[in-house]
Amino acid sequence: SPVHLATFFGSVFDTMSKVAEKKNIRLNSQIPDELFMEADEDKLRQIFLNLLSNAVSYTGEGGSVKVTAAPDSNPDGSENVIFTVSDTGMGIPKKDLPRIFERFYRVDKARSRSSGGTGLGLSIVKHLVELHHGTISVESDLGIGTSFIIRLPLLQEESD
Ligand code: ATP
Ligand code: MG
Repeated sequence: SPVHLATFFGSVFDTMSKVAEKKNIRLNSQIPDELFMEADEDKLRQIFLNLLSNAVSYTGEGGSVKVTAAPDSNPDGSENVIFTVSDTGMGIPKKDLPRIFERFYRVDKARSRSSGGTGLGLSIVKHLVELHHGTISVESDLGIGTSFIIRLPLLQEESD
């Protein structure tokens, strides 16, 4: 069913606001008000809560986290929504980037100890994105920040 993305991210940000405030991290979004997409809202929520909780966990006091969404057309005429989730956090070493979507993979114990996660979040995100016939990629610079780029179809394929 159609999800109004500006409303959806308003509610996702409400969920994240307490933990972000505690670290004085600013949450920003740039979502066109007219943008709707067909998606399973619960799965969409799981995707973005995982990405945003990582962004907040791996960003220091006073940093910022930003979500954008924009429509994009493929050469074949089909349409996507391209999302980005960017932070001004510690970044991910180049050598670890290819592995972060693996189950239980965490970059190093020192950085991860305080956050106490299991290393499952991004593997779940990738699985959910692929269930929606989308793709996810990551760009990161150590000490500067990280951006996840998620491409999802605007419409769901008719099944049968
Ligand atoms: P879980 O999500 O299961 O609680 P986790 O956050 O450690 O644990 P993932 O979400 O799968 O696991 O992330 C894997 C690893 O990738 C993290 O341990 C962290 O080292 C790194 N990582 C993920 N997102 C970011 C980010 N935004 N900035 C810096 N490092 C990140
Ligand atoms: Mg995580």
